[in-house]
Amino acid sequence: MTTEHVSYGRQKQAVVWVFVATVLAVLAGALAIPRAETFFVDRAQTEADATLRVVASGVNQMAARFEPLPTLFAERPVILNALQDPDNEGLIPFVNEQLRLSALSVGASDIFILDPDGLTIAASNYRDERPFIGKNFSFRPYFQEAITGQSSRYHALGTTSGERGFFFAAPVLDGINVAGVLAMKVTVADIEDSWTGLGRDIVIADPNGVIFLSNRQDWLFRTLTTLSAQKRQSIETAQQFPLSQVRPLSISTDVIGMNSVELSVDEPEGSETYLVESLPIVLPGWHAIVFWPLAPVRTSALYLFLIWVLFVSVIALLSFIVVQRRMRFAERMRIQQDERQLLEKRVEERTADLNIANAILKTEVEERKSAEGRLRKTQKDLVQAGKLAALGQMSAALSHEINQPLTAVISYADNAATFLERDRIEDAKDNISRISQMADRMARISGHLRNFARRPGDKLKAVPIAQMIDEAISITAPQLNSRNARIEFERPKDAVLAVGGELRLQQVLVNIFSNALDAMSDQETPVIHVSVAHSQDAVQIDVRDHGPGLADETIEQAFEPFFSTKEGGEGMGLGLSISYNIVEDFGGRLTVRNHPDGGAVFGVSLRRADQQRMVAE
Ligand code: ADP
Repeated sequence: MTTEHVSYGRQKQAVVWVFVATVLAVLAGALAIPRAETFFVDRAQTEADATLRVVASGVNQMAARFEPLPTLFAERPVILNALQDPDNEGLIPFVNEQLRLSALSVGASDIFILDPDGLTIAASNYRDERPFIGKNFSFRPYFQEAITGQSSRYHALGTTSGERGFFFAAPVLDGINVAGVLAMKVTVADIEDSWTGLGRDIVIADPNGVIFLSNRQDWLFRTLTTLSAQKRQSIETAQQFPLSQVRPLSISTDVIGMNSVELSVDEPEGSETYLVESLPIVLPGWHAIVFWPLAPVRTSALYLFLIWVLFVSVIALLSFIVVQRRMRFAERMRIQQDERQLLEKRVEERTADLNIANAILKTEVEERKSAEGRLRKTQKDLVQAGKLAALGQMSAALSHEINQPLTAVISYADNAATFLERDRIEDAKDNISRISQMADRMARISGHLRNFARRPGDKLKAVPIAQMIDEAISITAPQLNSRNARIEFERPKDAVLAVGGELRLQQVLVNIFSNALDAMSDQETPVIHVSVAHSQDAVQIDVRDHGPGLADETIEQAFEPFFSTKEGGEGMGLGLSISYNIVEDFGGRLTVRNHPDGGAVFGVSLRRADQQRMVAE
């Protein structure tokens, strides 16, 4: 969001810059308009100059061409002849024709001969409807001047033809006398026609400032200045121009430069401003003048300004587009860079995460290893502690088991000694036999221990189960008697054989009987039930007592070595463990369960033995 904001800000700034630059450029253009105008005016001036030269040279050539001609023609003898004999009907038509041909050949509109009174005696236009012949031109200044013996020039609106023309006149000399005047009229229409292509308002003004030639027909005979009354009088006298048309142009001037003026012509149709250039021509006092309309020049400057504005606008638009594109490009680049950086950062982060995870894993692995090490050590310690505990338990049990008979033996021995001293031989014997019993018991204890440490592998054979049970009962007899207890044995009808070892099976049974008696220690006349069941393959001996039975945990652990619930070190917890292993060695199984009617039931299941086969084996 921040980057977008920044980019938007920069874009706005760039747009503002482009706008400011555009406005400045347009302003500069506006300020430059006058300069542009000056430039265009200068150019117009140059062009006007060139036009002026063309115009002037046209008039100059005309003047130069026609000026000498009247003198030349006047020297022809036939001209003088005609003047000398104006009524010669044979000669005058000939002269007329001569003049016509001459006019045609030099391009003059009329050539005519005037007698000393100013009367036309012969003329090239003799064939025209209104020929000059018979007309008197004595009022014309060119006549008045030529008749005095000088060449002359004049310009006027033709009184007969109604056409403007230059008049060139020369005296016709008869020796030193002036016999008459030869005049030549040249119309100006041709010269004006040659200006049509120039496209500007062109004026040829006479020394009085009267416009005599112009491609603006409405300006003809208008004056550039106000004429004096005297001048107007002389125009009227010479019938030079129709005086009604001779009125000044409404001009207001404004000097532009050395040779040019800015000039406004106010006409009924409207006012127009011109750049005006003038140049003197060969005719004394005459001027060629070019009127160059300034409006198009000013329009050009304005157009230039408009083109400039357009150009600036296009440049502004282009710059705007370029700025925008560049910014978009920069923006794209920046986004790409950001993305790249983000990616790099992520990669770095991931790498860092991985490194951390790696380090954690390493630490965990090390911790596991050390934990494993600790565990192993703890296990070892535990095993060691277990061993020590077992050793301790065993030592306690051993010392208890052996101490009791040993103490008894010592006291019996002391008693026996006392009895012998007193010659109570029978009592001494009795004590000695008790000593013997105690020694037996101690021997049994050591036997138990030996059995516990015994390795299996003693030979198995077919043993008669009922007989084994009888013998076990008889071994237990002293205990039974002392406890006023009995064993009820449900003897099987057939002699049943099972796989086992005689002594070891008896040992198992004696241990079970002994435990049963212990369980019923609080009973007056404890009874143990022994039953035998058999099938094709198995023999099952069940020993049931009427004690409290075994708690669930006790059932689970009864066969584990050194497990005993008997208090005061009475039990070593080895009896059932040893018995279990013995029955396993026989390929049988020792189990315990509680009877539904109370008491525990120890079951010895054995493989049934085949007498013949066993003997054979
Ligand atoms: P000990 O007799 O030295 O305790 P045993 O291995 O012979 O060791 O017996 C283990 C335990 O099993 C006894 O401590 C006793 O709790 C339990 N037990 C054995 N026989 C019986 C029984 N007939 N009735 C109840 N509990 C019994």
